Amino acid sequence: MKLPWKTKGVLLTAPLTEDVDDVIKLIDEYLAPRGVNMIMLQIRYRYQFRRHPECCGYDPLSEKDVKRILAVCKKHNMALIPKINLCDHQSGLPANPTDGILHGHTSEEPLPDIKDGLLRAYPEFDELQNEPGVFYSRSICLSNAVAKIIIFELIDEMMEAFETDTIHIGCDEVFHIGKCPKCSKVPKAKLYADWVNSINEHVQSRGGKIMMWGDRLTSVKYTGYNSWESSEIGTEAAIDMISKDVLICDWHYEADQKFLSVDLLAKAGLKMLVCPWKEIDNAKRFIDYAVEHDQGHIEGLLATTWCNAGELARKLLYNAPCKGANTEKIANTLNELL
Ligand SMILES: [Zn+2]
Repeated sequence: MKLPWKTKGVLLTAPLTEDVDDVIKLIDEYLAPRGVNMIMLQIRYRYQFRRHPECCGYDPLSEKDVKRILAVCKKHNMALIPKINLCDHQSGLPANPTDGILHGHTSEEPLPDIKDGLLRAYPEFDELQNEPGVFYSRSICLSNAVAKIIIFELIDEMMEAFETDTIHIGCDEVFHIGKCPKCSKVPKAKLYADWVNSINEHVQSRGGKIMMWGDRLTSVKYTGYNSWESSEIGTEAAIDMISKDVLICDWHYEADQKFLSVDLLAKAGLKMLVCPWKEIDNAKRFIDYAVEHDQGHIEGLLATTWCNAGELARKLLYNAPCKGANTEKIANTLNELL
């Protein structure tokens, strides 16, 4: 598919350590020849942090793994950008995810609710630390000054390992901020925007920039998106509060949408990437809308995958059979989009 933008990116889940070779081959032999110039790796806490080894998630990549992935990206002049979730998505299931993804769950029942690296090491950073079960996933307490110190150190280490000036900080699908006694005194849009801006200032102080998801910057009521793709918790006013230097990854996966977020981000003076997923028809509708409504604020495409990156690599490279429910569809969509 011919796209009018400079960035052609793909978001891959950080591979299981046994799949690093296959993912390197995917970048080298499949993604690079198709003009992909940005790889984003969904790390979460799956990295062997040296300064904070207590925060390592399941099957963490070593610095050596990262350097090997970085080498193939450098060979093709591709940017390699790490992604870490720094608001919600701090817990989920299962404990040993075979696709490398800790998935949220849509129940408030006290499920096992496995905490990811940060909250496992520092349960006091949990916005709902006294609640045994939460809907979907846990959030960091955005008023916790110590959490911010640890997070800045995790960011620094990741940016050094990836030799990058850009990091994606997640901040999507937020449901539980503003609930503790301290946070509940602050309007949620301000709480959220202040958090993002403080991370942005830290990354800018080291000459870098941040990317984040855009779903909390618009409202369900105005856009008609569902409550995953847009906010029902009162954060939408943050669209005018966060720094214009933050690059917004506007993700939409469903059918029959108007994609009004594209226009809202332009109006707010924010730059964005168009981020579709597995359904090719929905992806094309989103891209078509974005091309038509581009006010010079769209930097490119970020195709999301949300599946086992090793399995996706083997499907695209060797047409190997897939166990993951969505992998084949995602492979077909990438074939068409790229
Ligand atoms: Zn709090």
